[in-house]
Amino acid sequence: MSILRPTTRLPESSIRALWTLLFCLLGVACTPSSSLAQQRAADLVLIGGNVFTVDESRPTAEAVAMFKGRIVAVGTNESMKPWIGDETKVVDLEGKFAMPGFIEGHAHFVGLGESKMMLNLQQAKTWDDIVSQVADAAKTTPPGEWIIGRGWHQSKWERPPTPNVDGYPTDIDINKVSPDHPVLLTHASGHMSFANGYAMRLAGIDSNTRNPAGGEIVKSESGAPIGVFRETAQGLVGRVKAKADNQRSEAEKMDYTRRAVELASQECLRKGITSFQDAGSSLETVESLKRFADDGKLGVRLWVMIRDNNERMEGQLAKYKMIGYGNEFLTVRALKRSIDGALGAHGAWLLAPYVDMPTSSGLNTASIESVTKTAELGIKNDFQVCVHAIGDRANREVLDIYENLFAANPTPFPRRWRIEHAQHLHPDDIPRFEELGVIASMQGVHCTSDAVFVPKRLGMRRSQEGAYVWKSLIDSGAIVTNGTDAPVEDVNPLDSFYATVTRRLTDEVTFFPEQALTREEAIRSYTIACAYAAFEETSKGSLVPGKLGDIVVLSNDLIHCPEEEIKNTKVIMTIVDGKIAFQSPLP
Ligand SMILES: [Zn+2]
Repeated sequence: MSILRPTTRLPESSIRALWTLLFCLLGVACTPSSSLAQQRAADLVLIGGNVFTVDESRPTAEAVAMFKGRIVAVGTNESMKPWIGDETKVVDLEGKFAMPGFIEGHAHFVGLGESKMMLNLQQAKTWDDIVSQVADAAKTTPPGEWIIGRGWHQSKWERPPTPNVDGYPTDIDINKVSPDHPVLLTHASGHMSFANGYAMRLAGIDSNTRNPAGGEIVKSESGAPIGVFRETAQGLVGRVKAKADNQRSEAEKMDYTRRAVELASQECLRKGITSFQDAGSSLETVESLKRFADDGKLGVRLWVMIRDNNERMEGQLAKYKMIGYGNEFLTVRALKRSIDGALGAHGAWLLAPYVDMPTSSGLNTASIESVTKTAELGIKNDFQVCVHAIGDRANREVLDIYENLFAANPTPFPRRWRIEHAQHLHPDDIPRFEELGVIASMQGVHCTSDAVFVPKRLGMRRSQEGAYVWKSLIDSGAIVTNGTDAPVEDVNPLDSFYATVTRRLTDEVTFFPEQALTREEAIRSYTIACAYAAFEETSKGSLVPGKLGDIVVLSNDLIHCPEEEIKNTKVIMTIVDGKIAFQSPLP
């Protein structure tokens, strides 16, 4: 694969001359006296760093110079001298570790911002904690308005709720504290929701309501819905909430999205992320993002997958395609679908039944025909296609869809289609990623978060052979990217990096450590591999003259620090477009 091959290097002087020429051609203030022998001073020069470049032809460096948002030189402190002029900002990194900014490979940008605007249920130790969070919110929320939250996970509670149905809470306690508010609390995975009695009444749900295709209304023995909605059944309440949201004015909606984008940008910059691959936004959201890009309001660079229905996308996609829009802050060139649910909620679509729920092999949440139709729209409009597949059956079906379409529409180049998550694979399907040029878009931190229940769901053999097998995929030649699926998990890349290189849950428990990546492989999965998976490897993912000036400076050396120190690593500085966008406050 070309991204793994060192590039041939031009002599330093030729690079400077080429840059001077390029900037003159771009109209960057070339005085009549300037010549190719003279160069512009850089805007920002980092010196004294321990720079890991992800460029195999020069893996390490001391210094990086940036001009007009791009890297113009990488090398020794000494070699920076010609780039430093009167106006140049010079930052001494004092030996700190710098590397290409993290590229979040799969997460939800607006969702991340929204998660900061609702109840965060991730830290709850019991269902009672959540009931009291809702009780507090009810005191300050006007009657009739929705109380929303996200992040609960029944497997993470110290004890199951009482009463419960299959370990899931019922609406009995929540109803007592929120009789006047509709309540909707989304599971950490996003694949299940909890609604209170008020919300269910608004949605017209009672014991007679049937399960929609690809979803389940969890009911008690008496047949009454308990408030838990799995997979597509979430839409029954979600649509009522969406209708309420839609009644807001256009200005209110825009303000809300702007606030979410602002919060998501700040969160990413604080955590060292300079580019973000958004795993599914509607056509409307893409329109809003375009306006924010016009106004320079996107704090990090976005690469967006469109998630909308086939009928709406048909005929409209060409209009929405954007590559490097708004000074390289917005690219829209991919489509998103989901074919199954998540393992935690028994929604992953498996080839064989769940060990802890032998009556079920999971849920197929969208028909093969419908996903194939989306993929055909991808071919027709030259969009990448990204399908969420978690269970081994789901992954096999998506690989089959891709294989059939590639055979019918051959090209000499890989289309770089992706499978999002690729969490559980049948061993026979592992080599197919490389063979088909399909990218495995994985999330390191899902492995250690889910590891508590994966062997229960799949049994030991299937867990070992096929769960989160990123090492086997890389060894087979496939491209594996990394990310967090935020707001499902915290967007912190260092948590996911730690999980990727250790697969350690606690001091005693490690989840099949033979699948751990080396530190260098893990950095690649978070930089150049993500860039490749977005057709952006010529502008991102390594520190090379000509690429974008997107860099993160960290308190620890991620290649050499002791393993347990990885978790304590702090982001010192995040640089986007050659400018310092975040700097940690001095202690
Ligand atoms: Zn996702």
